Amino acid sequence: MKTKPSTLVVEDLNVTKMLKNQYLAKAIAEQSFYEFKRQIVYKSEQYGIEVVYADDLYTICKRCSQCGNINRHFDPNNPIYRCEYCGFSVDRDVHASMNLAQYQRYPSPSGN
Ligand SMILES: [Zn+2]
Repeated sequence: MKTKPSTLVVEDLNVTKMLKNQYLAKAIAEQSFYEFKRQIVYKSEQYGIEVVYADDLYTICKRCSQCGNINRHFDPNNPIYRCEYCGFSVDRDVHASMNLAQYQRYPSPSGN
């Protein structure tokens, strides 16, 4: 039985850049984003898991995970994702996870 993933896909939050923003810095420091990211990399390397960073989650989430349509009126604040083309509907966060799971099928133009 497979007990660990071969790949972990996470949104690439630019923590270093975010820490330079006076409005974000305190909240980020309190929530230990930097340490969380560091631990993901450390533990993944320890267990031989590849870490893939998805660099633009907003763009990725506009794409329907079922039909591939890019939804023009995508609202990231709506808790329910609904495809304008095929009608697929699901919890927004579940849909983000579905897209991240398919991320390698849709690499970014920069080849990441
Ligand atoms: Zn669709």
